[in-house]
Order: sequence, then structure tokens, then C-alpha cells
Amino acid sequence: MSFEDLNLIEPLLRALKTEGYTVPTPIQEKSIPVVLNNRDLLGCAQTGTGKTAAFALPILQILNKNEYVKTGTKKIGALILTPTRELAIQIGESFAAYGKHTKLKHLVIFGGVSSFHQISELRRGTDILVATPGRLLDLASQGEIDLKSIQIFVLDEADRMLDMGFIHDVKKVITRIPVKRQTLFFSATMPAEISALANTILSNPVRVEV
Ligand code: AMP
Repeated sequence: MSFEDLNLIEPLLRALKTEGYTVPTPIQEKSIPVVLNNRDLLGCAQTGTGKTAAFALPILQILNKNEYVKTGTKKIGALILTPTRELAIQIGESFAAYGKHTKLKHLVIFGGVSSFHQISELRRGTDILVATPGRLLDLASQGEIDLKSIQIFVLDEADRMLDMGFIHDVKKVITRIPVKRQTLFFSATMPAEISALANTILSNPVRVEV
């Protein structure tokens, strides 16, 4: 199996070559076709398995087709919620690397720093927003983030969200994004509370385990 076999578009294949990736990891091989088919996904996978590319590549491919990308208008098409600043930065770096031959823009926001620069970047518009839950809610409440155009929502490391006490914030975010969307849910473990959350936010998901 190669990345070509997964029907990825040329700008993404070119970026993967630069990254030195030759074969997809198991989570990528199983998830990329599901996401490209616009299905919801329940992924049981840990960091280190290649799960970031498993969602980032198909998201870039789907959003690249959006009409507003061609016109240069930036609306948030994909939201990725992740529990920590370090993970948010890493995910942002992955979007930068894989998306470098597309016109898609991504932005990373997290708490613990001034929101001044994050707000000015948000005002310039972004296609992809990577965020930690608290800062996202803060800036959304201030009217700085328009969540109405989100097509794809990724919940990354759901079990860690629970451990870190962010699950209430996560649920609040979910009430503010469109009901009609594609949802990708990743967790290394599936305790009862996480499984229950997955059931309420996913619609007929494909389950992928690695
Ligand atoms: P992740 O699980 O998303 O944090 O990825 C773990 C590491 O594997 C990262 O350093 C990626 O750059 C790398 N990686 C992801 N997919 C591949 C691949 N198909 N081939 C080689 N390295 C990869």
C-alpha cells in the first residue's frame, strides 16, 4: 500500500515525499479512505502511530475542494481540539508540512499566553483551526471565532481531555458547532465516559483500531 493507492491529491503526495514518508502507517491506511468518504470515525490510537497525518491529510484534501479556497476567502472549515499546547503546536506543524503545496491556511491557538496575536491572526481568517478547549471557548465568547462554517470536527486525545478535566469545555464546544458536520474522534483508551461521549457526538462511525 502506498499513499498514491489512498487516492491522495498531488500537492499532498509531493509534500509527503519531502517529509520522507514512503508507506502509510496502519492507522493512516485504515482511516484516510474513511475520512475521504465523508464518514465519521472512531479511532483508537495513541500518539506515535501516525494519527495526526491520518486526519490531517484527508482534511486538507476535502477542504482543498471548497469553493471559498479558490476565491481566497477564509472560513473555518475544520476544527481540531486537542488537550495541550504541545500537541496543538505539533498538529499545527503537521498541517504546515503536509499542506505546504495547497492554499489552505491553518492557525494554532492555546491558553497560557496573551490572546492578542491569536485574535489578530483570527481576524485575517483561517481554513483550519487547531485549539485547546479553554482558549477556544474564550475567544468564541468574545466573538472572535465563527464556528458556523465548520464542516469537519476532530476531537484528539479524548481520554486525556477527561483526565485533564476538560470534558465539560469539550461538550460546550460541541454545542456551538454545526450539528451537520463530519466528526473524527480519537482516543488511546475508551473508558465508559469517553465511549458515552463518542456515542452522542458521532453519527454511524467507522471504528478503526491499531
Ligand atoms: P503522530 O502519531 O501523528 O504523532 O506521528 C508520530 C511520528 O511519525 C511523527 O513524527 C510523524 O512525522 C511520523 N510519521 C507519521 N506518518 C508517517 C509515515 N507514513 N511514514 C513515516 N513517518 C511517519
